[in-house]
Amino acid sequence: MKIIRYIDSQGHIGYASQQSDGTALEIEGNLFGDFQVTDRRADVSKLLAPIQPVAIVCIGLNYRFHAEETKAAIPQHPVVFMKLPNAIQHPGEPILLPTHLKSDKVDYECELAVVIGKAAKNVSRENAIAHVLGYTCANDVSARDWQKSGGGGQWCRGKTFDTFCPLGPVLVTADEIPNPNNLRLKTILNSQTMQDWNTNDMIFDVPALIEFLSGSTTLMPGTVILTGTPHGVGMARNPPVWLRDGDTVTIEIEQIGRLTNPVKDEPS
Ligand code: MG
Repeated sequence: MKIIRYIDSQGHIGYASQQSDGTALEIEGNLFGDFQVTDRRADVSKLLAPIQPVAIVCIGLNYRFHAEETKAAIPQHPVVFMKLPNAIQHPGEPILLPTHLKSDKVDYECELAVVIGKAAKNVSRENAIAHVLGYTCANDVSARDWQKSGGGGQWCRGKTFDTFCPLGPVLVTADEIPNPNNLRLKTILNSQTMQDWNTNDMIFDVPALIEFLSGSTTLMPGTVILTGTPHGVGMARNPPVWLRDGDTVTIEIEQIGRLTNPVKDEPS
């Protein structure tokens, strides 16, 4: 099932099941418990990020060719950092280039996002996928200057500005993607393809990430895991490519869809 979150014409927020003809049917119940698709047509006036996460856990350097392009060693354990819920941005809404804490080195990263559906703690690799509600597209927008030298060695400062985590356009339930580690994923900047690879290049695959992240740690329902980006990021290009006001960036993942956001300067 392809689940959307939306605002209707009365301003109410709901979930719905997107149909193949482009319409959507309202969902009743709890996405993290029991829910049903009704026969009522959803009155979608605007799409939202398909989930408002309780936590956003991100993995760095998780693709072999990307680790090479950044000249980083292959990590022994997944490299973990966090974004905050303020970073979530909806499909079609702008990525804002920071002007107050100014950055002129903002980059894109296409990533498969995993949404946890059932609380997971000390989960084995074999049972990991049973805790997944579904998958969506993410853009791990990154201010490289703040990531590298403005955060005391931590990446978070450069990764969690407002709008730095677009998600969407739909959440595809786990039953429709039995193997998340064989999906083509791309970044298209304006009309140019910048990243075009496959999740099968992950150093730690989705079950391995859930096993590791749930170790002595509860992953609450509604946790979103960003699983890392392949090579082709702007900072590793010669010359480097940075997002600019007026750009349009699209993240596309096979079997999920296309997440498109314009880029604008943060209003002063
Ligand atoms: Mg990333």
